Amino acid sequence: MASGGGNNRNGTHRNSLKGTTTTSTASTDKPLSVNSNPSKPAFKNKSSPLTGASSGLRKSSPGSLGGGAAKDDAGVPGRVRVAVRLRPRNAEESVADADFADCVELQPELKRLKLRKNNWDTDTYEFDEVLTEFASQKRVYEVVAKPVVEGVLDGYNGTIMAYGQTGTGKTYTLGRLGEEDTANRGIMVRAMEDILAEVSPEIDYVLVSYLQLYMESLQDLLDPTNDNISIVEEPKSGDVSLPGATLVEIRDQQSFLELLRLGEAHRHAANTKLNTESSRSHALLMVHVKRTVKGREAAHSSDNGNSTSMARSLRPPLVRKGKLVVVDLAGSERIDKSGSDGHTREEAKSINLSLSALGKCINALAENSAHVPVRDSKLTRLLRDSFGGTARTSLVITVGPSPRHRGETASTIMFGQRAMKVENMLKLKEEFDYKSLARRLDIQLDKLIMEHERKQKAFEVEIERITAEAQNRISEAERNYADAVEKERLKYQKDYMESIKKLEEKWMMNQQNQGDERKEQMVHIAEEVAEVKKLLSKETSLRKAAEEEVDNLKSQLAQLKMSEASANSEILKLRKMVEDEVCQKEKLEGEISMLQSQLLHLSFEADETRKRLDRGGPGKVPGGLDSPVSQVRSQLKDSGNGEKASVAKLFEQVGLQKILSLLEAEDADVRIHAVKVVANLAAEETNQQKIVEAGGLKSLLMLLGSSEDETIHRVAAGAIANLAMNEKNQELIMSQGGISLLSTTASHAKDPQTLRMVAGAIANLCGNDKLQTKLRGEGGIKALLEIVKCGHPDVLAQVARGIANFAKCESRASTQGTFSQRSKTGRSLLIEDGALPWIVQNANSDASPIRRHTELALCHLAQHEVNAKDMISEGALWELVRISQDCPREDIRTLAHRTLASSPDFIAGLKRLRIDY
Ligand code: ADP
Ligand code: MG
Repeated sequence: MASGGGNNRNGTHRNSLKGTTTTSTASTDKPLSVNSNPSKPAFKNKSSPLTGASSGLRKSSPGSLGGGAAKDDAGVPGRVRVAVRLRPRNAEESVADADFADCVELQPELKRLKLRKNNWDTDTYEFDEVLTEFASQKRVYEVVAKPVVEGVLDGYNGTIMAYGQTGTGKTYTLGRLGEEDTANRGIMVRAMEDILAEVSPEIDYVLVSYLQLYMESLQDLLDPTNDNISIVEEPKSGDVSLPGATLVEIRDQQSFLELLRLGEAHRHAANTKLNTESSRSHALLMVHVKRTVKGREAAHSSDNGNSTSMARSLRPPLVRKGKLVVVDLAGSERIDKSGSDGHTREEAKSINLSLSALGKCINALAENSAHVPVRDSKLTRLLRDSFGGTARTSLVITVGPSPRHRGETASTIMFGQRAMKVENMLKLKEEFDYKSLARRLDIQLDKLIMEHERKQKAFEVEIERITAEAQNRISEAERNYADAVEKERLKYQKDYMESIKKLEEKWMMNQQNQGDERKEQMVHIAEEVAEVKKLLSKETSLRKAAEEEVDNLKSQLAQLKMSEASANSEILKLRKMVEDEVCQKEKLEGEISMLQSQLLHLSFEADETRKRLDRGGPGKVPGGLDSPVSQVRSQLKDSGNGEKASVAKLFEQVGLQKILSLLEAEDADVRIHAVKVVANLAAEETNQQKIVEAGGLKSLLMLLGSSEDETIHRVAAGAIANLAMNEKNQELIMSQGGISLLSTTASHAKDPQTLRMVAGAIANLCGNDKLQTKLRGEGGIKALLEIVKCGHPDVLAQVARGIANFAKCESRASTQGTFSQRSKTGRSLLIEDGALPWIVQNANSDASPIRRHTELALCHLAQHEVNAKDMISEGALWELVRISQDCPREDIRTLAHRTLASSPDFIAGLKRLRIDY
């Protein structure tokens, strides 16, 4: 029973229904469930709302109190559940109350009890479960006690308590042993049956104590001498324990029944001694269940010492300790009414002190009062955990049917109603069992010590045996060695004596031979001495001659040394000169490679420029005639100052004359690079004059004639085209046979770009008024008409430009009255050379540069009346009409229109062709 409002008890209060019925409140109350997940009811059977328990004990609530909820320190809300049980009329009541109706009426299906106030009025109360007089003991156990017992097995504390007037069936409900009829077994017996069925006798413990509380004295019903047991409260956890109470371990149902019988006998004896009745005392059965949930296999303490089982055995087992308290309370009737005699009023008060304190505590808890007077009595101290604590509590209130006890019945019902408002927070009592782990480890350690000792002993014996064996072997080896040494010594002694003897014999023989040999030796020596003397004198003379020779050679050597020294100084000088030469050569080579790299760089740049030129087709330059020069110019402009600068640099560094001289170089590659560089320079207007003055134009034209290489042709023609931009150069080109060189080049060309360059050059020449006749005379127009066969639009555009230029000059001359370039008939030279069909054919070309130039050419040709007939016959009239209407350039459109309108021949032609103009 917790004091204060700390716990969450604001849950499901249920008010008594006085006279009215509010079924809606009934439906809000759910069966006792501690499952944290509301969508999953912990108990399947909804037919028993008090408990929600189904028939199977363990299966009915799988993990309902374990799992996540167990780890949650805050606990799970669990209201005190209250059932009411009505006792059937007994014999006395059947007689005495025969004429009266029962004061209570039950509606079990609605879980309601109606208490008759008088003949007209009843009060209605709702309970978690309403058990009629016909309810079996089994059913009562299942709805009231079973969920609590299951909780205890899962490690929660649980309380089952009966409250009611004496004689209403509290003891019948809780304490019946069922010896006469097993169906009558009460809650205590059935609870123990379920507990014993669940626990493992080898590792789990079931311990029981049985007590009686009378006049605030706690007596041990298992040991009557123990009659004032003190209650110890642990300050931290608030757990209550009774260290003085006898604890009996229960292993089977039989011993439990005997224990209950013994307790009952002691209770009877004690009450006789105290001159009281059992109805005045409270009986408390406490069942401690300790179960190992994890590490069960380790707890069985296996003997095989393999490593995994060793590791497992080092983990402490996880144990759950649940305590079930079954309380058969003293009768709730008022003392005075029950007629207790022999006791003073004070005594009477004391007898029921605990009960009234319990009522006060429950009132305080029901009203969420800040102070709960737990410490006012021993009963409330003992039941601290059962009301407002961590236990799951189930209360059965017992009532009788007799109207004579209506008042007691009403107060019992009110007690039950208030108890229903008490909210507990269920908490799992789970902990690691370090003690049992320590015990297990102690046993293991002892085993290991014994094993070690055995091995140590065996080891020592083995060592002794090996030492003795080794000793034996050593002494045997020593003996063998001594024998062998002695044998050897004797053998050598014998050999020595024999050798001495032999030497003595030899010495004797030598002594005899020596006398004869000495004479012979003397003669021999004298001969040898004479010979040696002769040899000595010969040697002396030879040595003298050799000494002379040596002197001679020495003087020669001195001479040689002198001449060698002078030769050496000569060699040094020469070597120095050679080194200087090498140095000079390296320098020159460096310069050469530098020049080569510059040349390569420039040719690369020239190539790049050409590529860009090739890519940017004619028609891109706004206005003007798409001459290569203007393209190059724009290209140079586009490419920025870098390239220009590099060409200019080259100009400065190498000098134009040197570059031009390279045009005639023997190496073809050098020639190609040189012509590219010159072409690049020629693209720049400022350079053009310098190039021409330095004879560059002449060299380029010569190259066109002499070279066979198409690249040279292409690049040279491009350069010439650029130079052909100004009048003076045009004349120079013409005077140096440029037209015939260009037309020959065109006739050999395979690359359209070469043709484009050649056509561009001729087109520029076509724009010179003074050169018209000469140009035509040298086959310029013919050459253009040859070039068109290639069909490349870029090439055709250049041809068209040339023709337009030519026609423009003719038209200018006609308006100025100078017809020098005309044929005898006065017709245009273009028409004379057969260019008209091509012009007409391309006047409506898809390529706009071609169309623009040919349209212009037609307009210019049409200016002169003498061309009109040919133009009409070649179909140019149609084109002129089209130009006058469709040409996007307004000036050309107007020119065409004006021409058509003013020329009599054209007007006649239009009429003839029925063209409405
Ligand atoms: P209490 O312990 O509340 O004083 P008891 O359990 O001693 O009451 O019951 C008084 C009498 O009523 C007993 O003789 C008991 O057998 C009988 N009794 C109680 N409840 C029932 C019941 N539900 N059915 C049959 N008899 C009952
Ligand atoms: Mg009783």
